[in-house]
Amino acid sequence: MKYISTRGQIKARTFVQAVIEGLSRDGGLLIPAEIPDFSNRLARLQDLSYTELALEIFKPFIGDELPTETTKRLVENSYSTFKTPEITPTTFTDSIAILELFHGPTLAFKDIALQFLGNLFEEILKTEKISLNILGATSGDTGSAAIHGVRGKAGITIFMLHPKGKISPIQEKQMTTVLDDNVVNIAIEGTFDDAQRIVKDIFTDLEFKDQYHLGAVNSINWARVMAQIVYYFFAAFRFQEKYPDQPVVFSVPTGNFGDIYAGYLAKKMGLPIEKLILATNENDILFRVINSGIYKIGNVTETYSPSMDIQVSSNFERFLFDILGQNGSLILEKMNSLTQTSEFQLSKEEVLKIQEELLAIRIDNNQTLETIKKYYDLGIVMDPHTAVGVAAAEQSDYRHVICLSTAHPAKFSDAVIKATGKEAKQPASLVGILEKESRCLTCHQEKNAVKKIITEKLTLEK
Ligand SMILES: *Cc1c(COP(=O)(O)O)cnc(C)c1O
Repeated sequence: MKYISTRGQIKARTFVQAVIEGLSRDGGLLIPAEIPDFSNRLARLQDLSYTELALEIFKPFIGDELPTETTKRLVENSYSTFKTPEITPTTFTDSIAILELFHGPTLAFKDIALQFLGNLFEEILKTEKISLNILGATSGDTGSAAIHGVRGKAGITIFMLHPKGKISPIQEKQMTTVLDDNVVNIAIEGTFDDAQRIVKDIFTDLEFKDQYHLGAVNSINWARVMAQIVYYFFAAFRFQEKYPDQPVVFSVPTGNFGDIYAGYLAKKMGLPIEKLILATNENDILFRVINSGIYKIGNVTETYSPSMDIQVSSNFERFLFDILGQNGSLILEKMNSLTQTSEFQLSKEEVLKIQEELLAIRIDNNQTLETIKKYYDLGIVMDPHTAVGVAAAEQSDYRHVICLSTAHPAKFSDAVIKATGKEAKQPASLVGILEKESRCLTCHQEKNAVKKIITEKLTLEK
């Protein structure tokens, strides 16, 4: 399979190149040049296990760049760390279906993609005889999932920055109790924005970036999107077994648009999805663009669902590419406008086209807590991100919506306590975590101080 850029300014890439590069060199996002059609094979895929299904879905995207046996081993290793044999089980209530995506090592849906990406990186680096040093900044979820994805992997070192004392104690410990030699946690004396600015500054220092083989693991990596397609098929099959005559509708709590974009691709691949409900919290840029056609960056507000507290939704560009007739120059125009004026506009026809695929609903903080409480009283404990998706499903006219449950409630216990007065039950992986041995460097909010840590660590290794 060939991969092209949404901005159309580069030559096509291979799958391996797309995975290693992450972001396209023209600033765009890499997407497969063609979407494979599975519509004639759905019946055959229906009875496969999660890992068997993943292998079938990955095949056309990887092509012959990895031997099938290798992909199979990577997939099996990636999901052997999950706590349930179904990997992503669906549970049904009278009114909704809940797709549980939080059974991985860090209890959030990002594990599904990052467990696989870590193994894939290791394999590619070994074959290509290169090394990769990952640098990132996190406000919680992505950082811990990335660390657990690459811990102990040959050829990779990860440097993860977080704002000191400004992430939840559990999230901090999920990162800093990983004691593998290839994991370097750095607490920055500053805010998340400071940490992110340092990472951006270092990445624009191209000489340093190239010298130390620095790369990123953010949600724009194609392999992450690919890994997320699988559970849409898997859950839709479970749903159809229970409700053979009902349309399949998913509700997706959305931030960076990576998760819901995988759902859109599943539909393009032939999975009969009637609608994707895009649920946002009070950071509602996607809700606004889908209903008004104006994509305008506002200020980030803090909500109970912090992993969705973002304004610029990077993966939306991949979806927009289709809506704008796969015209890279048009995307480039919109993105330039975004850089210069913090906004761009879509036409009425384009908005209608988007609305055929997506129904956007915005859920505020109160509705989030009310939803947690309502389901708690029915015996179901959900985290605030999941609650945003469930609340949106309830506001829509659809019934028996499959709601993606993106985090374990114990990971966001503050919101659960606030809504119900009671704590969520802790899974085994969190019991005693606050007392475990941890390791973390502390550093000023200064680019050169971080560069020094990277240099020392990587020089030491040689
Ligand atoms: C990252 C995240 C989301 C948002 O997913 P996107 O792919 O960024 O839209 C939702 N819930 C949780 C718990 C997350 O960690």
